[in-house]
Amino acid sequence: MISKSSYWVCLDKALSIEVERGFINTQGEQYQFSEYLCLNFGELPPIKTSNNQRQRWLKFASQYAIYPKLTLSQRRQLIVQTRQFLHNLKQDFKIPVKHPHPKQPKTSNLIDIKSILRYELNLEQHLSTVKEISFRKIGLLQKIGLDTVRDLLFYYPRDYINYARQVTISNIKEGETVTIVGRVKKCNFFTSSKNKKLSILELVLQDHTGEIRLNRFFSGNRFTNKGWQEKQKKNYIRSTIIAVSGLVKQNRYGLTLDNPEMEILDNFNTSIESLNIARILPVYSLTEGIDNSFFRKIIIINLKSAQTILDPLPISLKSKYDLMDLKDALINIHFPKSLDFLERARRRLIFDDFFYLQLGFLKRRQERKRLQNINSFTPNKYLTHQFNKVLPFQLTKSQKRVINEIIKDLESLQSMNRLLQGDVGSGKTIVAIFAILTVVESGYQVALMAPTEVLAEQHYKKIILYFNQLCLSAELLTGSTKKSKRHEIYRQLITGELPLLVGTHALIQEQIKFKKLGLVVIDEQHKFGVEQRNKLLNKGKYPHVLSMTATPIPRTLALTLHGDLDISQIDELPPERKAIETKVLIGSQKQRAYDLIKKEVSQGRQAYIVFPMIEESEKLDIKAAIEEHKKLSEEIFPIFNIGLLHGRINPLEKNKVLNDFRENRYQIMVSTTVIEVGVDIPNATVMLIENAERFGLSQLHQLRGRVGRSSFKSYCFLITSSKTPNILQKLGVLEQSQDGFFISEMDLKLRGPGTILGTRQSGLPDFALASLTDNKEILELSKLIAERIILSDVKLNSFPLLKGELEYRSIRL
Ligand code: ADP
Ligand code: MG
Repeated sequence: MISKSSYWVCLDKALSIEVERGFINTQGEQYQFSEYLCLNFGELPPIKTSNNQRQRWLKFASQYAIYPKLTLSQRRQLIVQTRQFLHNLKQDFKIPVKHPHPKQPKTSNLIDIKSILRYELNLEQHLSTVKEISFRKIGLLQKIGLDTVRDLLFYYPRDYINYARQVTISNIKEGETVTIVGRVKKCNFFTSSKNKKLSILELVLQDHTGEIRLNRFFSGNRFTNKGWQEKQKKNYIRSTIIAVSGLVKQNRYGLTLDNPEMEILDNFNTSIESLNIARILPVYSLTEGIDNSFFRKIIIINLKSAQTILDPLPISLKSKYDLMDLKDALINIHFPKSLDFLERARRRLIFDDFFYLQLGFLKRRQERKRLQNINSFTPNKYLTHQFNKVLPFQLTKSQKRVINEIIKDLESLQSMNRLLQGDVGSGKTIVAIFAILTVVESGYQVALMAPTEVLAEQHYKKIILYFNQLCLSAELLTGSTKKSKRHEIYRQLITGELPLLVGTHALIQEQIKFKKLGLVVIDEQHKFGVEQRNKLLNKGKYPHVLSMTATPIPRTLALTLHGDLDISQIDELPPERKAIETKVLIGSQKQRAYDLIKKEVSQGRQAYIVFPMIEESEKLDIKAAIEEHKKLSEEIFPIFNIGLLHGRINPLEKNKVLNDFRENRYQIMVSTTVIEVGVDIPNATVMLIENAERFGLSQLHQLRGRVGRSSFKSYCFLITSSKTPNILQKLGVLEQSQDGFFISEMDLKLRGPGTILGTRQSGLPDFALASLTDNKEILELSKLIAERIILSDVKLNSFPLLKGELEYRSIRL
């Protein structure tokens, strides 16, 4: 008696597997997928069916007979129909859909499902099914994150040893890795008299150009056995031909190979079997208990499964852009045929790193655009026109361009999701105001969120000046807003009276409800988490989003980090900004900086003195700032008033200190890095940064941006006690450049991507091979190809393999 439910489960399983594999007509142990289905539909099911159902059933048999000839999308269609049919049938006959008991007896007219599952070559197969890998090793492999055959094959070498070069003995040079083939002239095997555990096989090898003495070392008692040693020696009797690979070293007998790999050959033409000789050898980062030679062995065994990998990338694209086939790339990344093949394999796999990321970004972006066509604005431009009139300066060309990009988005039918990048002082706030006015005059409300109270207040003050002139209202909401005020704000938001609310993350509180939120502006967006952003966005129905950042990031980083955003860039500063004269000083030269501060302050200007603060040593850093503040006030600048700001000062007090500085009641401000983000006090002209080597370049550039905000000439001193050439060279970049993009590019090179943003949650994907500084060209290519594919077919329905791979990768992320 067959179990009815197992019958259906087997069919379903076979269909699912075929779908998962991307319609490749999967090879099972006995049958191919199409044969299995054909056989099954050739015989009527074990239930009483109607005439129609029987006919349809048998028709599937003939359809699956020609399955191998169908195109991928035809195959897909057939499987969809099959599933639909089976689903209806099961419903009609109330067939329970559950898995059969594992010990179900095997039946004769059914093919055991295991034959479908047990692919000879299956990427998703768990490593425990590979017989060469013991149970203990499975645990160790798991430690380095390897569970399946796929994991293993995509675990790339960290380095290579090039033994591919075969040389004659007279041509070897110290420091090279080489392979030599020669005859044994002499062989000796003995245990060291100094170290009783060390046994040494000593060989003299010769070829027609000379001879060389080689040693192989065996450590451990089991190698000291005389009988065993004699037996080994027999392998190397005079005239035996052997191949050896190793690193050439100099010892007291001359040049030698250091503990070389060796293989005995039948004759000079025999091909070398060993994985370790005469080729480019992969070297992996492993864990104790798993060595490279074992790992190479299991890679070789499993590379066989690479043969069945179907490359999701269309052939036409591969040949057009010279991208190696995926399976060849996998084979050659582990065991390169030559250095050239290795390079091509790397190029392809780096491409994949970038490509699926871009494909995912673009797919999401296109889908979102299709979905979110809610707010289209038709402003009459009266407000922006008026604003232009009251502006005390001309907009820069960049500002105009960017404003147009944004307004075009707002007038389109799709939700804007745009990142506005611009160096410190490039005038992003003004640009944001244009966006805000466009939305406001279309009858919608705007929320502007900044990461700190200081910044929120500063934005508010700037904006309210203009808003007053335009007869518009705006409010500020932060943690320190009074209760009565807060309630009044809630009310005005709900009624829609209030067009603009500026604030900190206080804006995401639950009580805040807008009547019609049309735009969300987020300043210093990388200081917010995804969740905080989303909470604010959810207060409206697909509001437009304008994110701003003053940390210009290199294009490669922007593409990998913000690939799902449109990016606008302000790439010039307002005219009349003078370059900030920047100087790196070692500790003993600090007096020069103090002299300049004295001079500037006596001319009415102001100065910042900044101490680094890092979370790990916050207490100590604050203490240092407090002590230094005391010393500066009492000894160095006794005639000036000096303010103090650090992270432990509460927000109200902080605001007061900053305001006093703004009003020039303090001439000098001593501060930890709380000053970094966006503070705008134009009268300040000197920035002195202590222990500058503790900051990243982009961060220093941000700090420096607190001065040079007026037509007065400004100065920046970077003080360091370090004499390390690397550090001095790094700081030197700031002496030479004021260009935030160039500086962040250098930062990326010198310190890697994680540090540029100065935040821990950088959200950067973990690339196996790709580098944002070295592989720009491949990144651009991947973007180009991804765009082409998404524009032609956003759902990827005609690229089932690509779609599958993309889904697979996004689950892994
Ligand atoms: P950031 O991009 O750092 O946020 P802000 O928007 O704070 O820059 O602008 C810095 C200063 O430059 C502000 O005082 C602002 O009023 C001024 N500003 C902005 N645009 C221009 C311009 N086109 N010409 C002159 N000054 C400008
Ligand atoms: Mg700003």
